[in-house]
Amino acid sequence: MDSAVEVETIALTRRRVAQSWLSTFSEALEARKYDRVARMMHADCYWRDLLTFSWDFKTLQGIDQVKSWLRKTFDLVGAYAFRLEGEPAVGSIGQHSKTLEFFFRFETKIASGRGHVRLVGDLNSSATALVFTILTAMYELKGFPEAMGRNRPREDQRAASQSLENWLDRRRVAREFRDRDPDVLVIGAGQSGLMAAARLGQFNVSALIVERSERIGDVWRKRYRALRLHNEICMNHFAYMPFPDTWPVYIPKDKLANWLEFYAESMELNVWTKTVFLGGEYDKSERRWTARLSLADGSARTMRPRHIIMAVGVSGIPSIPKLEGIEDFDGPVLHSSGQSDDLDVDGKSVLVVGAGTSAHDIAQDMHLRGADVTMLQRSPVTVVSLEPSSVRAYELYRENDGVRPLADTDFMIAAVPYDLLRRLHGPLSRQMAEMDKDLLDGLRKVGFLLDNGEDDTGYFLKLLRYQAGYYINVGASELIIQGKIKLKSGVEIERLTQRTAAFSDGSSLDVDVLMLATGYQPLQEAVRTMFGDNVADRVGPIWGIGSDGELRNMYARTAQEGFFVAGGGFPAARVYSQYTAMFIKADLEGLRATT
Ligand SMILES: Cc1cc2nc3c(=O)[nH]c(=O)nc-3n(C[C@H](O)[C@H](O)[C@H](O)COP(=O)(O)OP(=O)(O)OC[C@H]3O[C@@H](n4cnc5c(N)ncnc54)[C@H](O)[C@@H]3O)c2cc1C
Repeated sequence: MDSAVEVETIALTRRRVAQSWLSTFSEALEARKYDRVARMMHADCYWRDLLTFSWDFKTLQGIDQVKSWLRKTFDLVGAYAFRLEGEPAVGSIGQHSKTLEFFFRFETKIASGRGHVRLVGDLNSSATALVFTILTAMYELKGFPEAMGRNRPREDQRAASQSLENWLDRRRVAREFRDRDPDVLVIGAGQSGLMAAARLGQFNVSALIVERSERIGDVWRKRYRALRLHNEICMNHFAYMPFPDTWPVYIPKDKLANWLEFYAESMELNVWTKTVFLGGEYDKSERRWTARLSLADGSARTMRPRHIIMAVGVSGIPSIPKLEGIEDFDGPVLHSSGQSDDLDVDGKSVLVVGAGTSAHDIAQDMHLRGADVTMLQRSPVTVVSLEPSSVRAYELYRENDGVRPLADTDFMIAAVPYDLLRRLHGPLSRQMAEMDKDLLDGLRKVGFLLDNGEDDTGYFLKLLRYQAGYYINVGASELIIQGKIKLKSGVEIERLTQRTAAFSDGSSLDVDVLMLATGYQPLQEAVRTMFGDNVADRVGPIWGIGSDGELRNMYARTAQEGFFVAGGGFPAARVYSQYTAMFIKADLEGLRATT
């Protein structure tokens, strides 16, 4: 057979298997034959659902969980018209060296859905191919399509030319919220708040973002000078507006800051800067918040939005350790969350307390600025090289860059539940450690305390669990190995005096500047400060993988009606903001009545 014909034959076989598998799956579901569906699943399967069957983010693992969930939810909601989307492809995941993967579409009463499945086993026949992962997700609310692409807003030119009011006038009025309140108040104009508001705007939901900084993007501008994003551009794009093809692989912070401002303007987002969200209470009977704001001109305003999205970053309130004798220390004491760019550290002795990402970044920055830096490390940290290791965690984005639409890659990644990520990152993190052997040996030699996470799953799981306890090396590790950044590890500060830190091993250090890179309190504490104990306790812990296998209280509805949390990396903001927005739109349109 000539090779072109052979390729064609293989593609046809894949398509036939996928098509036939999907027909059987769809028939079994539509007939509510869940035992039949169960027989199509691998014993070790995962089914993840984003909003379609329960208005929640759900991960089911194993056949029993899938069956009982289908009984509970599918009977109520139902789905039909499953159909293949695009061409099936061969892939691999974990111990499954060959998978058959494809996207599909389906319908429910109120929404169109999109799905992705990875089949494993004997892939030559639909009867023997079994589901390893399946993702079903809400794609579009029926009757409320996003105004984009061929559906973009079209103005009646003749009617528009009869009116004195133009686009700019309408933007001004929309932004002012002079005699009306928004449906949604978003706290924070970082990338998470901006993308959430952009998604809402596409659903024609009025949203106001309040941002305490002077300018959108200041959160990045005020970080240390050398900062560039730690992940490659291919995974960091914004929803609706990918970065230009001409941009560098690692985006510098000020370039990103300006993009945030540009994004807000281009997406017609309503942002009030120099405006601080002070606090809010929820009125259950009216299903509205009372939100108190302090405005740029010093005045106050109370608003009554239906929903609040808290997008203040996932770090929360700075965690400041109690240090014996701190009141005697007469040099500057700073926390890594504050600005230290304007501090003259040339020739000064700086003690950086902590050994996570901020500690490394600040130590490196202060070393560059001429300081004599010592890092104080209390507990072990996971270190990975920027390249070749850290990039392995998002290999699919790199492979698919410019080859597949970003939305497809996002979807394929969302189809890997967090528990499966944990399993995949065991072997992957050990490969990373092997690739980084020289770097890690060098660090060990100078006494740096290393680990690979509590269950040997590396930095990525630390990120998902704690947003802390790791460092992606952008140069500070070499400085530590070379002794240019000094290290004191496995000890704590026992006492501070006027200009000295005494350590638990009996040694001491003359210190001019004390930099606390000691992390943050859990985000639930920020909720407590802003919304009080009742809301904070009802919502519970935020971030970290919950017992249900999902990231706790991120982007999905929380136990507090009308309250959502957005935050974290760019992919999360891009991907999950669409589900927050769909949920809110469905709520405002009364589509959620039944579930
Ligand atoms: C060095 C470094 C490199 C990174 N690289 C990457 C990367 O490559 N890829 C990636 O995905 N992630 C990366 N991250 C992580 C992540 O993208 C950031 O932490 C990001 O800032 C989180 O965005 P956010 O919108 O959730 O929060 P933030 O950017 O922190 O924005 C929160 C906003 O809320 C405002 N705010 C807070 N409280 C109030 C209030 N009460 N009222 C009004 N406004 C308020 C703040 O002023 C701020 O502007 C990196 C982080 C760092 C530090």
